[in-house]
Amino acid sequence: MTVRLKPGQTIGILGGGQLGRMMAVAAKHMGYRIAVLDPKPDCPCAQVADYHIEAAYDDLEAAEQLNKISDVITYEFENVDLNMANILEKTGKLPQGSLPLEVTQNRQKEKQIAVESGLNVPEYEIVQTFDQVETAIQTIGYPAIIKTITGGYDGKGQMKLNNEEDLSEADTFIAPDSTYIIEAFIPFEQEISVVFTRSQTSDITYFPIAENTHNNQILHQTQIPAAITEKVANQAKEAAKTLAKKLQVVGTFTVELFVKDEQVYINEMAPRPHNSGHYTIEACNVSQFEQHIRAICGLPLLKIQSFPAAIMINILGKHREELLAELPQLYDFHLHDYGKEEARPARKMGHITIIGESLEEIFKRIEENQLPTW
Ligand code: AMP
Repeated sequence: MTVRLKPGQTIGILGGGQLGRMMAVAAKHMGYRIAVLDPKPDCPCAQVADYHIEAAYDDLEAAEQLNKISDVITYEFENVDLNMANILEKTGKLPQGSLPLEVTQNRQKEKQIAVESGLNVPEYEIVQTFDQVETAIQTIGYPAIIKTITGGYDGKGQMKLNNEEDLSEADTFIAPDSTYIIEAFIPFEQEISVVFTRSQTSDITYFPIAENTHNNQILHQTQIPAAITEKVANQAKEAAKTLAKKLQVVGTFTVELFVKDEQVYINEMAPRPHNSGHYTIEACNVSQFEQHIRAICGLPLLKIQSFPAAIMINILGKHREELLAELPQLYDFHLHDYGKEEARPARKMGHITIIGESLEEIFKRIEENQLPTW
């Protein structure tokens, strides 16, 4: 059953962070109303929404309220309560479905789906105790990464094991009654992401593949074009297409991959627009957010056209003061601020995007204008 919305109807968003905010802004241009469910007053999306249901993500009464106001419902982050998503799916108003959530909430399921689909993933084991870590590391070898199986994001809940000396730290890192994944560290040449959108009728459009740089496991910078061969680009897109079909994706979805020796390895997936797709707001004729809204509202996807090059740099809490002080000089940036009050050092507060004819030309402008790069 295809969900179709007309302008004036209401889109409900589970989660009120910056992704919800940017979805809402795109939807507003198209005449839709926005209802957001998020426990925090004045959260980024509530600032631009028509209705804010201030409630916990597992509050089923709140879900019912959202369902009543909304003609379609979407989620903007993967840690939405699965039970709530299942209930909303039954109403026929959640075209994204709950399967992509279920899989991306759990690193083990994510890896299993990739393996079942015949895709490469870093070698991994599931562990619950320190003894199991010791056994697993014998086959996986160093360096390796231990990650919590659920709930981790932006490098939270992760620990790198470089050598045997780090093993003792793993003993304190492993909490009782928790499950972890330990995976081989891929000495990748590049990290890339495929951000794509799939419609309710299974059409797919891909945004230009992005090349990503992380600092302390948090995305720092994204650039297009990614410096990859056509072979790698095709592998990455094919992998994304396979996963999209398997997970019956509707909306914008992201697959993050490592590139090594002309091979791609699936790292992570996100069932929603992604930080590495923010450049699409200025660099493409249709952004990852607008395309997502089109998909969930039953509109045809737009054919994607793009500027030849773009760079997106995240602004974390620790960068914000410096950036704000220089704001009057920053005429070459597109500034996005998410409206978050509390600037914790590693919190994503906003981003900047610079578009141009080539990466060389953009880097030259950054240098000439002495724009702050961190
Ligand atoms: P994740 O939360 O799994 O996306 O990890 C955050 C970042 O840590 C990734 O974007 C990589 O930069 C790094 N990382 C995570 N897992 C691996 C791995 N198996 N090999 C190499 N780098 C990794």
